[in-house]
Amino acid sequence: MNSYCERVLHQLKQKDASQPEFLQAVEEVLASVSLIFDHHPEYEKMAILERLTEPERIIQFKVPWMDDQGQMHVNRGYRVQYNSVLGPYKGGLRFHPAVTLGMMKFLAFEQIFKNALTTLPIGGGKGGSDFDPKGKSDAEVMRFCQSFMIELSKHIGPDVDVPAGDMGVGAREIGYLYGQYRRLKGVSERGVLTGKGVGYGGSLARKEATGYGLIYFVLEMMKAAQMDPQGKKAIVSGSGNVAIYAAEKALQNGIQVIAMSDSKGYIVDEQLDLDTVKKIKEQLRTSLSAYPEMAGHGEYHEGSVYDASLKVDLAFPCATQNEINKERAQRLIDAGCQLVAEGANMPNDNEAIALYRQQGILFSPGKASNAGGVATSALEMSQNSMRLAWSFEEVDDKLRGIMISIHKQCQEAIRQYQLDPKDYVTAANIAGVQKVIDGMIAMGDY
Ligand code: GLU
Repeated sequence: MNSYCERVLHQLKQKDASQPEFLQAVEEVLASVSLIFDHHPEYEKMAILERLTEPERIIQFKVPWMDDQGQMHVNRGYRVQYNSVLGPYKGGLRFHPAVTLGMMKFLAFEQIFKNALTTLPIGGGKGGSDFDPKGKSDAEVMRFCQSFMIELSKHIGPDVDVPAGDMGVGAREIGYLYGQYRRLKGVSERGVLTGKGVGYGGSLARKEATGYGLIYFVLEMMKAAQMDPQGKKAIVSGSGNVAIYAAEKALQNGIQVIAMSDSKGYIVDEQLDLDTVKKIKEQLRTSLSAYPEMAGHGEYHEGSVYDASLKVDLAFPCATQNEINKERAQRLIDAGCQLVAEGANMPNDNEAIALYRQQGILFSPGKASNAGGVATSALEMSQNSMRLAWSFEEVDDKLRGIMISIHKQCQEAIRQYQLDPKDYVTAANIAGVQKVIDGMIAMGDY
C-alpha cells in the first residue's frame, strides 16, 4: 500500500478502533486506490484522503415509540451524510438490531463510490436504526417510522439528502416515512425519498433493480471472460428483494439457480420454484423451511449455504455483510465456483477477496455489481422532478445501460492502470474514487 494511504488508514484505526466494519471498508478501498496516489503525489499535500474519509456530517438521534401494549421504547437513529460532491446525499436506511454508527459509516462510505460509478448526480449517505421490524405489528412499525421522521425530516430534502430502503426498510416503511414527512413539512416533495409505492411517485422496476442490475453486470463480466451463462449453476444467498430478483433475472438468462437462503437456513433444489420463494418471503413473510412442502420438491437445511460445499459455477451473495470468510471462500473455490458477484454490501471479507484474487476467481464488489438499486433510485428522482412516470421497460432499459456503463468504466480502469483483467475490485475503486476526487478538487477546498 502507498505510504500516504497507509498513514491515513493507521490514523483511522486509532481514531475509530470501535468501528470494525468501517475500517474494513476503508482498508479495502485504500489498498486498491494506492495506484492513484502513486500517480498523484501532490494529493497528500491537499489532504485528499483525509477529506475523503471524514464524513461531512453525522446525525445521531433518539427515537422513542410506543408498542401496542402501551410500553414505551427508545431506539437510536442515525444519518451519515458522508460526501455531497457529486450531488445530494443518497443512500438507504437500514432497520436492524445490529445497526451501529460504525456500520452506518461503512455503508455510507461505500455508497459514495458506488453512486459515483452510476454516473448519476448523487452523493453518498446512509442511515438507519437498531430497531428490529421483525415481529412488530404494522401499527408499531408506523409509530416507529413517524417518530424516526420527526428528527430526520430536519436534515433531508430532495436537493439535500434523499434516503431510500435497505435491510428492514421496504415499501411499507417508506410509505409511513414519506407520509410523516409530508405532514411535518406541508409540501409534496416526492423526490425526498425513493423506493416509494408506484401510486405516489415510486418508479416501476425499482423493486427489481438491484437484483436485475447484478445479473446485467454479471452477463457483461461473463462476456468479457468468454463464459457462457447457459446451464451454469448458481447459489443466490438471501431471499429479500435483491436475491429474489437476481434469481429471477439469472433464470431468465439460462443460469440454473440451485440454492437460496435466509437468516436461519437454506434450500437446495435443482428445479427451484421462485414463485414459491416469493410467496414465502413477500406474502407469508416466514422462513424458507416451508419451501419443500409448499413446492413439493427440494430440501431445507439449517445453517449457512456456504458451509454446504454445493457444486456451483457462480455465487451471488445477496444477504448481508461478511457472510463469506476465507474458509467459506475456499469451500466455494474447491467446489468449482469460478465467479462471485456481490449483490449485498460487503458480503465477502477482505481475506475472502484476497483468496479470489490469488486463485484467479472472477469477483465483483458490491459497489459495482449492486449499484443498480441506487441508480434506479436516481431515476425515480428524475421522474419526480419531471412529474412523469416511465414504463417498466424504459426504466429497465436505462438500468441495463447504466450497468453496462459501470462495467465499461471498470474495463477502462483496467486498461489505464494495466490491471489484471479479473481485478474488478481495484478497477471499481479507482473509477469511483477518481471521480469524487476530481469533483472535490474542482470545488476548491471541499
Ligand atoms: N440500499 C441500497 C444500496 O445499498 C439502495 C440505496 C438507494 O436507493 O438510495 O445501494
